[in-house]
Amino acid sequence: MTTHRNCIICESPTDIVEYCHMQGCLYVRCTQCDLIYVDRFATNEQMMQAYTGGGLKSFRRRLFGPLRKLRNISGYAHFMQRARDIFRSVSQGVSTRQNKRFLDIGCNKGFLLTAAIEQGFDVYGVELVKELIRPFKNTYPQFAGNISSEKFSVAAQGFDADFFDVITAIDVIEHFEDPIQDTRNIYRMLKPGGKFVIQTPDVDCSQAIQLGCDWGALKPLEHLHLFGRKNFPTFAAKIGFRDISIHDPYEDADGNFIAIMYK
Ligand SMILES: [Zn+2]
Repeated sequence: MTTHRNCIICESPTDIVEYCHMQGCLYVRCTQCDLIYVDRFATNEQMMQAYTGGGLKSFRRRLFGPLRKLRNISGYAHFMQRARDIFRSVSQGVSTRQNKRFLDIGCNKGFLLTAAIEQGFDVYGVELVKELIRPFKNTYPQFAGNISSEKFSVAAQGFDADFFDVITAIDVIEHFEDPIQDTRNIYRMLKPGGKFVIQTPDVDCSQAIQLGCDWGALKPLEHLHLFGRKNFPTFAAKIGFRDISIHDPYEDADGNFIAIMYK
């Protein structure tokens, strides 16, 4: 019998069953908490390839990236409206004093950062795909130095403890190779009382249950750990977060949930 990687929530070597074989990887499932995770990750190269969409997409971004501003992105008005709606809910209850700091991990094109700038926040971002965030940097050169294009685990080392009022990770924690370590870093970087908001796929949603291995969120080169609205509070409490609440997603996509928690 082969042994599988332990569940990061239960830390139990037993009760791990094979879930789906796909793209040369194996998803396993913890029968205690229902966490679904990739047993052994693909190589860094294979994972990076999945992020940049291979050669062509990345080439196109490089070609059109240098001069583009955010407004030139097609669908700008729609994306901005969505970002403002999300940020309104993210910043709810956050103090209105000056010098509020906001970090968006996996900030993509920077729409959420832009919505935060409009609300007077100092903004910071982490985005692995450099070309994606270039129009934001062109538009807000004063914040360009606050954007890191390292993996979060590396970028986190550059941030002080007790620094941020709000941190978001929208559709991101499923990508973390070491969610315990990365989420501990997020906790460290938040001010006491600071707020952390995530959106991530939900293993408890009806699509996940009905579709099994055909569930759209199963992408073993990108989605390494899939949580659910039932097990996430246990995970977050283990890191030290308090007042953890689960909500319906900003975007349902393949079935997501939102969790809000405080340091
Ligand atoms: Zn478990």
